[in-house]
Amino acid sequence: MIQIKDLSKTYSNGMVSLDSINLTVNKDEFIYLIGASGAGKSTLLRMIFRVEKPTSGNVLIDNFSLKELTNNQIPYLRRSIGFVFQDFKLLPRRTVYDNVAFALRILNYSRSRIRRQVTQVLELVGLHQKQNYFPSQLSGGEQQRICIARAIVNNPPILLADEPTGSLDPETSWEIMQLLSRINM
Ligand code: ADP
Repeated sequence: MIQIKDLSKTYSNGMVSLDSINLTVNKDEFIYLIGASGAGKSTLLRMIFRVEKPTSGNVLIDNFSLKELTNNQIPYLRRSIGFVFQDFKLLPRRTVYDNVAFALRILNYSRSRIRRQVTQVLELVGLHQKQNYFPSQLSGGEQQRICIARAIVNNPPILLADEPTGSLDPETSWEIMQLLSRINM
């Protein structure tokens, strides 16, 4: 469960991005945040992923307060959260397989465990056949599916997506939303 409590963020230039936000997201819930550009949606996600600290208020994940989180604990928090970016952030010189396997190699998992998890997740997003391709050989929708595979490969309990369809055409966007919804089931 994610609890956002009286969360405010004012940037150093005086820009108020969030003003006393309260929100609870229960386990298994799939929620959309909708708002005009500049409304603070990305800022809110960055607080949950702890890319930024709030000016006041708090985020609790399963009752664990992010306010108390030390810098050393941030990698552990991030392991429990998958993050899908609008602009993919794929490694251009690595294959589809390696882009997805990358995070697991850092965790020193065995080669067979990595192969099992990566294969499973590439099948789920329908890109198993293209595991040896490079990102530049894929369409935007396929690249986004790799990002989703990368975000969920280690089974995080939370998946955040920041405008995951922002750079895709309507039909591909719909496919990506269906995929995200399927993953949540
Ligand atoms: P959204 O994702 O809804 O488009 P953002 O969270 O990106 O909105 O931005 C919310 C507001 O905070 C905007 O007015 C934006 O200009 C401002 N903002 C975002 N990031 C920064 C930053 N690093 N420094 C200063 N202002 C920022």
